[in-house]
Amino acid sequence: MRGPGRGLRRRRVNPDDLAPWASDPRRSRGRRIGEASSPPRNEHQRDRDRIVHSTAFRRLVYKTQVFLNHEGDLFRTRLTHSLEVAQLGRSAARALRLNEDLVEAIALAHDLGHTPFGHAGQDTLHDCMRAHGGFEHNLQSLRVVDALEIRYPAFDGLNLCFETREGILKHCSRHNAEHLVRTEPTGPGRRFIDGTRPSLEAQLVNLVDEIAYNAHDIDDGVRSGLITMAQIGEVPLFARWRDEVLTEHPALAEQPGRRLLFETLRRLLSAQLGDLIASSAAALADAAPADADAARVAPALMTLSPELRARNAELKRFLFGELYRHPQVVQSTMLAKTVVAELFDAYAGRPEEMPSDFAEAVHLPRAVADYIAGMTDRYALREHHRLTGRRLFD
Ligand code: MG
Repeated sequence: MRGPGRGLRRRRVNPDDLAPWASDPRRSRGRRIGEASSPPRNEHQRDRDRIVHSTAFRRLVYKTQVFLNHEGDLFRTRLTHSLEVAQLGRSAARALRLNEDLVEAIALAHDLGHTPFGHAGQDTLHDCMRAHGGFEHNLQSLRVVDALEIRYPAFDGLNLCFETREGILKHCSRHNAEHLVRTEPTGPGRRFIDGTRPSLEAQLVNLVDEIAYNAHDIDDGVRSGLITMAQIGEVPLFARWRDEVLTEHPALAEQPGRRLLFETLRRLLSAQLGDLIASSAAALADAAPADADAARVAPALMTLSPELRARNAELKRFLFGELYRHPQVVQSTMLAKTVVAELFDAYAGRPEEMPSDFAEAVHLPRAVADYIAGMTDRYALREHHRLTGRRLFD
């Protein structure tokens, strides 16, 4: 019989109330360099704290998500996006009895390797680095926490747990994975060769990342005036919740302001999170993996219903066509690409223009990519002006 008694007994047995398939910090695969524990925090809380105190994390506030940082103070940046991902992820993790601390750590770190100017910056750096191993932002996020943060006396990087690093490395090419496992055979590159999955917590962050940006890009898109309520109203997923809001609050149809937009997005987010929790709970109950490792070799157990996946695909198509490829966004993107490409050439030709730890690196192109990738949008613009004498943005 199901009842409160059963729930209470379970809580006494497992003080963290984690599901058997959740990542248990007491069974972490550990850090590359062993460290004494730091009670009362568990290892995943400790990783979260290291990420929050990192330099790369603070820089996220001045890095573009879709709209360039200087285009307006109210748009999402990489930092506010990361906080939204952490909030959605923690809600779902708690409902599914997954490890909330690990979800939070991965969510806050998942975009640390992003270049200035969003995808424009990343694509350009990849082009510049084509002959030198390329540039990939997930791999760069791992590089930030493994090597580029310099704050501890005994090691470079943040020396995070395997589970956090595994979640940060969301994608990785076969070529890069082979390179990673050469130095760390059982590290986070391994699963791209074995074809297995990351922890359920990492899978969850990937899903809520997408849920977060679909919703906030609608918000920023409408706020910027690049898309209208009428246009987004043609997307079935949005229309469904907008219609429900208007049925309950018909006066909102006539009111200026954004209450209708916000209330629609609020419901859309709740519905997506509700779907994710219900669909994943069903998949987990079905598969019942014995532990966190068994979940890594099972099919994807963090999932959305097929219906919602189809609706999301329509929304994504809309955002690609109407927002990400809007002439104004494309125009900013072109200028941002020029800034990054010219910065790359300038530093590659005159390494002494970079701080000495980058200028004197053994692999100069990689050091230039690391240096540029770490910049905020506005620092990149300042450096571009200093080195070329030109201002591409007003
Ligand atoms: Mg993201």
